[in-house]
Amino acid sequence: SRIPRIVILGAGYGGIVTAIRLQKELNYNEADVTLVNKHDYHYITTHLHMPAAGTDNPENARVNILKLIDEFKIDFVKSTVVQIRPQEKKVILEEGTLSYDYLVIGLGGEPETFGIPGLKEYALGIRSINSVRFIREHIEYQFAKFKREPNRTDYLTFIVGGAGFTGIEFVGELADRIPELCKEFDVDPSLVKIYNIEAAPTALPGFDPELVEYAMNVLQNKGVTFKIATAIKECTPEGVLLATGEEIKSSTVIWTGGIRGNHMLEEAGFETMRGRIKVDETLRAPGHDNVYVLGDCSIVMSPEGRPYPPTAQISMQQAEICAQNLVGQIRGSELKAFEYKPKGTVASLGRGEAIGIVGSKKIKGGTAAIMKKVVDLRYLYIIGGIPLVLKKGRF
Ligand code: FAD
Repeated sequence: SRIPRIVILGAGYGGIVTAIRLQKELNYNEADVTLVNKHDYHYITTHLHMPAAGTDNPENARVNILKLIDEFKIDFVKSTVVQIRPQEKKVILEEGTLSYDYLVIGLGGEPETFGIPGLKEYALGIRSINSVRFIREHIEYQFAKFKREPNRTDYLTFIVGGAGFTGIEFVGELADRIPELCKEFDVDPSLVKIYNIEAAPTALPGFDPELVEYAMNVLQNKGVTFKIATAIKECTPEGVLLATGEEIKSSTVIWTGGIRGNHMLEEAGFETMRGRIKVDETLRAPGHDNVYVLGDCSIVMSPEGRPYPPTAQISMQQAEICAQNLVGQIRGSELKAFEYKPKGTVASLGRGEAIGIVGSKKIKGGTAAIMKKVVDLRYLYIIGGIPLVLKKGRF
């Protein structure tokens, strides 16, 4: 009979780890595997707050996909997916069509703006290599513009919407970068303002309150002003309007307030919640026994019945089970149930500072910053072994 075709959409955390596992597990001629991704590189999303702020080179946050997979075992197609047609078992790409027997959807998330007017149009997002190059250049340009129009201090006001992990990690880096930019452009540092605005009653909702307080202290000492329990009502080309009635003028609004699933999932007729598919315990879309969904496109419920937050960590763990289940399905053996095993969480607060929970242990400061490095290096090792650790790991 014909060799089954597996198509993997997206080479993010979920997609690339699935591909790497499949190429190890599958025997010769057991399946044809095709990996599709918009770019010819995989990006390490969890590093993007650094190149966005300009504290690191974007090159350190990306890896050529052909360095990670074996082209003799996996076909790589660089193209943008435009439509998924589950009924016909086809995906439509910008250039061409692919048929599949098994599909893995790992296309990542899109910003959730909760219908707040103007965010889509005027706010920037930390999402990809291209978006962070833009943010870095944009920030530098504001300093250059201020030197030509010294009354426009709003050019030196930076607004970050959302104090979740991404928002917190980004303001930490930005606060480190500001003194360098002030020196470079001869700008008085006291004119620069960084606001982190969050609608929820606390920063890092759901995280240990003692660590949240520590994080806010570190960031406030670096010059970040928090506005917690304060909703952004509207984003305009001139800045933001807050629910309190206050207006903050700024030409830089970076939105990190939420993530939803890829819009193509809804369009394909899958049942979605905030653009995500609530997968069954084998990680398949309900009613589709040949469609696996990973990472930010999926929802996995905790035993307490709450969705786990979308992270790189859960995406990678899903990828391991997804690859095993694909192999199982092809060989006709029993499928495994996915069970998330949280390994801990560490959030960076800029140079040498972080907070985290590892097991049941709280860590902060330099120890947590070292832990963050370890987590980063471990990921490089998982996808690219020692050579990648040496090439992209910054020691
Ligand atoms: P992604 O990693 O987002 O990958 C999706 C892939 O699909 C990309 O390669 C993209 O180019 C491709 N793609 C998208 N659309 C198309 C298309 N139409 N056609 C073809 N290809 C397409 N999580 C943690 O666990 N720990 C952290 O410390 C952490 N820090 C973070 C810091 C920042 C600044 C950000 C933004 C996120 C952070 N996260 C962290 C969250 C984590 O990055 C995401 O949950 C994770 O990347 C989701 O993985 P994924 O496999 O679903 O998709």
